[in-house]
Amino acid sequence: MHNEELQMPTKAVLRHIHVETPRTNHPRKCAAHRSGKKAHSLLSGDCHLVITEDDKTYRYCADAAKDILDKAQADLDALRQQLGL
Ligand SMILES: [Zn+2]
Repeated sequence: MHNEELQMPTKAVLRHIHVETPRTNHPRKCAAHRSGKKAHSLLSGDCHLVITEDDKTYRYCADAAKDILDKAQADLDALRQQLGL
């Protein structure tokens, strides 16, 4: 008996987002704070959120990542609600 249809793998949809903690001080600008008084770089040991879009990479400090993840959580909750889950 074939169970292939029952074992359909769950698609991972969050592959464009991950967390990195650099080990070098190579300058990486925080995408949320690029200019002005709050401008800063992500340096060695700065755990931060990385979002890749096509061939572009955006890095966000934990402060900015919180808002992004809160929004993503709200979007996921809305999708669940629409599906009655
Ligand atoms: Zn920042």
